[in-house]
Amino acid sequence: MEKKHSYWSKFTFAFKSLAKGLTLTFAHIRKARRGRSKLSIQQAGYFENQSGIATVQYPFETIPVPDNGRYKLHNEIEDCIVCDKCAKICPVNCITIEPIRSADEFGKTSDGTTKRIYAAKFDIDMGKCCFCGLCTTVCPTECLTMTKEYDFSTFDIRDHNFPFANMNPNEIEKKKKEWDEHQKTKTTASAENMTAPSASPKPIIKPKIAPTPPTE
Ligand code: SF4
Ligand code: SF4
Repeated sequence: MEKKHSYWSKFTFAFKSLAKGLTLTFAHIRKARRGRSKLSIQQAGYFENQSGIATVQYPFETIPVPDNGRYKLHNEIEDCIVCDKCAKICPVNCITIEPIRSADEFGKTSDGTTKRIYAAKFDIDMGKCCFCGLCTTVCPTECLTMTKEYDFSTFDIRDHNFPFANMNPNEIEKKKKEWDEHQKTKTTASAENMTAPSASPKPIIKPKIAPTPPTE
């Protein structure tokens, strides 16, 4: 049979619930007088020390982000050898590269890798990026990295396409012409080699055969 509560037992229950709720609320208010501790996420006790105020006054206050977090990509273009590996591995095709080959080596990266290809275009569309990090793992010169910059929201999604190449249109035109000239010279030289008669035919050298000894 259901137990019947008297008027006073209900009143006591309500009063106890209210007191419990208010105790919790005041405990949070007391803690909220302190701001969040500015700790690195890798520091011991990071979560235990985040008992202060629950919200931060962004952008004036920020929560520290982990060093190995995946946020906005950056390409240190001076160290890029335009090998295209990052664009090939990207699962969503958000890296667009326009290479221009050079006939000769034109410089070295900071790790000593030879540079032979110019980047007329190196765009990363962060609006498409799924932050998988694959492009950074295949980069042979480690020039492509993920930075700690996570706030790059824009009003126009087209502004999420970040260009990294630093060649101007005149330089691009000049380097393209140089490569075309180099290719033409190479093709002409190879055609001339194919058609030119041999200056002095090589003498036919007959192999020396030892005379067969007479049979008795
Ligand atoms: S992080 Fe992933 S999705 Fe983004 S550019 Fe690199 S490979 Fe593409
Ligand atoms: S993998 Fe690295 S070096 Fe190669 S094109 Fe991409 S950013 Fe440049």
